[in-house]
Amino acid sequence: MSIADNLAGVRRRIDEACAAADRDPAEVRLLPVSKTKSPAVIREAYDAGVRLFGENKVQEAVAKAEVFADLPDLRWAAIGHLQTNKAKLVAAVAAEFHALDSLRVAEALSRRLRDLDRTLDVFVQVNSSAEESKFGLAPSDVPSFARELERFDALKVRGLMTLAVFTDDSDLVGRCFARMRDLQALLQDTDAHPERWGELSMGMSGDYELAISYGATTVRVGQAIFGDRLNPNDYWPVR
Ligand SMILES: *Cc1c(COP(=O)(O)O)cnc(C)c1O
Repeated sequence: MSIADNLAGVRRRIDEACAAADRDPAEVRLLPVSKTKSPAVIREAYDAGVRLFGENKVQEAVAKAEVFADLPDLRWAAIGHLQTNKAKLVAAVAAEFHALDSLRVAEALSRRLRDLDRTLDVFVQVNSSAEESKFGLAPSDVPSFARELERFDALKVRGLMTLAVFTDDSDLVGRCFARMRDLQALLQDTDAHPERWGELSMGMSGDYELAISYGATTVRVGQAIFGDRLNPNDYWPVR
């Protein structure tokens, strides 16, 4: 199966999930996640029409952005946890950042963005499964965090992001997504700027259809498009 075939298959399943949930497919955006994949693979996806790619490691995104500097319409979404010392890189290369979960990172990004005279679309990461190992804010901490974010003009808040618990038990996964849907509704009811909370970035290869049934507006899909991440033929940077 080519990447174009895989993309078409995922898009078809998104359309079907939207139909089942009585949602308009135009509300759901597919964000292909190209982490660990080589520039040749990314080029194939670009030729199949992909213009925005998700990467979870900042250095890898920067290296790939350099490879594709001649394609100005190719954009990068930083989707992984960020340390403040790499905020400068995200501010320089990313069109979107999906893992905002601290004021320190907000401050660091904001300062770097102001230096560059740029803005950045950001998603607040929520730990919807309450697992110790997961990044993100506890749902109950999000409303006050949202108020603090108002002072960072360069950060354009678009909504919430989460990684659901990793399990085959769809009841448990659905509970994570339901928490996100409820939190979004709370923010849209109570936040001073309810228009900031239109996006829900949730759902990956194993659970994007379920995420759509709970209101996902951006699904971040890697392996279902690019194949498994351990394939030595397209792993990058070469180990
Ligand atoms: C890798 C990754 C994805 C995609 O995962 P797949 O299982 O390959 O679809 C989505 N979101 C984040 C934050 C990731 O790191």
